[in-house]
Amino acid sequence: MSTKYKATCKCGATVNVPYSDSENFYEWLKGHNECLKHPPKREWVGLNWDDLPEIYVGDTAFLHGAKWAEAKLKEKNT
Ligand SMILES: [Zn+2]
Repeated sequence: MSTKYKATCKCGATVNVPYSDSENFYEWLKGHNECLKHPPKREWVGLNWDDLPEIYVGDTAFLHGAKWAEAKLKEKNT
C-alpha cells in the first residue's frame, strides 16, 4: 500500500507527497502560490469542422447542436 499521493499544480508541476511529510508539501505549495491564484490563460480553440464524421454531414439538427455547444463553451471559457 502506497503512502504517497501526487499533487499537481495548475502550471503542470507535480510533487510526490508522503502523508508523513506534509511540511515539504506546504513548502512546495508556497512556491506555487501565484500560479494557483492565476492559472495560465489558455487560448480558446474551437471545433475543427473538417473533423466532422461523415455520418453527420448534412444532419442539420446535429450541426445546430454542435454549433450551440461550441458557442456555449466559448462563452464559458473566454
Ligand atoms: Zn505552479
